[in-house]
Amino acid sequence: MLDVIPIPMRTDNYAWLLVDQATARTGLVDPAEAAPAAAILSRTGGRLDYILLTHHHDDHVGAAALLARDYGAVIIGAAADAHRLPKLDRAVGEGNAVEIGESDGVVMVTPGHTVGHICFYFARSQVLCCGDTLFSLGCGRLFEGTASMMFASLRRLASLPPETRVCCGHEYTEHNLAFALSRDPDNARLLARRKVVRARREAGQPTLPALLGDEILENPFLLAPDLEHFANLRAARDRF
Ligand code: ZN
Ligand code: FE
Repeated sequence: MLDVIPIPMRTDNYAWLLVDQATARTGLVDPAEAAPAAAILSRTGGRLDYILLTHHHDDHVGAAALLARDYGAVIIGAAADAHRLPKLDRAVGEGNAVEIGESDGVVMVTPGHTVGHICFYFARSQVLCCGDTLFSLGCGRLFEGTASMMFASLRRLASLPPETRVCCGHEYTEHNLAFALSRDPDNARLLARRKVVRARREAGQPTLPALLGDEILENPFLLAPDLEHFANLRAARDRF
């Protein structure tokens, strides 16, 4: 089983520290910066075994090479994007296994935000690290992929068990919530969620991980009934 620890980076990024309870081996997803990661690692035993990269954007890979050198960590990322990622020690694709100690996971290819985007899903630990594909109450912008690609990727993620903890790449929940409420102002679930989100932010705490079961019932992008609705919603969110 994995413990998950969000590490705030830059303005609104999170890297995710995954700690295998049985072996104390660790993985770090999407490190943009070295110093915040080093500060947490010094409190969790000082070891970093794996760096897992969801996609090539600098706010997800910025400190990968430096941390790999300092800690001797193995860098894992998408084979399809090896040419534009930091130098990979392991290039992976759809269905490939990843292990952090005794916690095993699998790679899911989820194009949309970028064409080479991947997610890491640890079924037994009920952890999904989804980078900039799925956000709490939102989804990633379509920088490279099509609406159709993203819609299919989100459908796959939404089919995972509702107990799954969703570890996203950004703290965008408040703005996503404002957008969702602008389309559906009387939605009782969204209004209840707003209380929780506000309390967390006022206490300086992350709103993540989110619970996939909540996202399935509240995230407008997961609730979109078809591709056309999804594409319109994504375009409206770009202008919001
Ligand atoms: Zn990105
Ligand atoms: Fe990002």
